[in-house]
Parts: sequence; structure tokens; C-alpha cells
Amino acid sequence: MLDAAEIRTVLVVTAHPDDIDFGGAGTVASLTDRGVQVVYLLATSGDAGGFDRAVDGVGMAELRRAEQAAAAKQVGVTDIRHLGYPDGAVEATLGLRKDITRVIRQVRPDLVITSTPERNYVRLGPTHPDHRAVGSATLDAVYPDARNPYAFPDLLTEEGLEAWTVREVWMIGSPTPNHWVDVTATLDRKLAALRAHESQTGHMDDMEGFVKGFLSANAQAGGLPEGTYAESFHVMSTG
Ligand SMILES: [Zn+2]
Repeated sequence: MLDAAEIRTVLVVTAHPDDIDFGGAGTVASLTDRGVQVVYLLATSGDAGGFDRAVDGVGMAELRRAEQAAAAKQVGVTDIRHLGYPDGAVEATLGLRKDITRVIRQVRPDLVITSTPERNYVRLGPTHPDHRAVGSATLDAVYPDARNPYAFPDLLTEEGLEAWTVREVWMIGSPTPNHWVDVTATLDRKLAALRAHESQTGHMDDMEGFVKGFLSANAQAGGLPEGTYAESFHVMSTG
């Protein structure tokens, strides 16, 4: 696993606005606190989301981009990029791999955080089909596409984007986590980020209780001290 000092730039690739905030915003806050540059890349703008909606899909996408920008600000992230794929219909196509490869080569991250491509049979929520498609395309972009100068050759010849090797991937929503980050100190900012997704979390009676519940269960699973909160990841070296 990379040492903290080796992680200078991180690219987070998710399907929807709010995915990183449920899965990893506390960790993101601790990264930006120590000066790590974190960039968010979203495959969709969440146009199929919301509850009791008064807007159409286009209005919802606009609203959710603004909510994601507000949420990101709570944890020190200002660079957010959008691919604009349709929410609910993302597939792990060559086109998506190329779009993610392009951003990996632009951002040149040491670490990529993304969704697991695996289905979780214990809890369905974290492995929404869009999450699995984005996780799968992202892993393929990390290996082999981004590091192979002959993959999507026009990225190099037309756009001047040199091959780049991402050294490590952390997957959120994994049924087999192997790394737990203590987010007790950044919990308030994670909750503020989640509250910024008003269209998704405003209807929840006890959002704070729900989030604290699963973070506390994570901490327990990871063997962290009683009373702490943790986000869990499946960490994978790409070497
Ligand atoms: Zn999602």
C-alpha cells in the first residue's frame, strides 16, 4: 500500500453526485487537510434522482451538479468534472473507458478512488448498476488503458496526453473491504457534504443516524476503537 507521503494527487471516479459523499467524503476531507489535490469525475449528473420532484431530468441534473459542488466544498474539493452520461443507463463501454482514461492522463493521480464493480449481495444500495459499470470501466482505464500509450492512440497523437500509471485503487461499496479509514475527526464535514445533497437526503428522517450507524459498523469490522467511525475500502495495488 502507498505511504501517505506518496499520495499527492487523487482522482475520484463515481457514477452519481453523492456517491463519494456516502462512501468516502470523510477520507477525502482528511486527504485535502494534508494538502493532497483531489479531483472528482462524475459519469452522470444524477438526472434520474430525487424524490417528490418538481423539475424534469435536465433541471434535476443542474440541481445535482450544484449540490455536488456545494458538498465538495465542505471537504476541500473544487475541481469537479462531468461526463454527462445518462443516469440509470451507464454501461462499461469502450467509450466510457476512453473518457475516464483521458481524465486520468490529464490529472495524473497516484491513487484512484472508485466504486466496486462487484455486486454486494448483503446490501444492494452500494452496488447500483451504474456504480458497477463505472467501477468496471475505471479499473479498465487504470489497467491497461491509461498506462498503455497504444491504447486509444488519438489521446496521445491528437490530444498530447501521455500514458500514466495509477499505482493504487481504493474501491468503495466493496463486499470485501481490506482498509478502514478513521473518519471520526472529519465526520461533521462528511455530514455537511451529505446535507448539501438536499434532493437526495432531505427526505431522510434520520440521515445522521443512518450514516453514523454504518460508519460505526465499519469501524467495528475494521477493529477500530469503540465510539469511532470509519469508511471502508478495498485497496488494490495495480503493479
Ligand atoms: Zn449512486
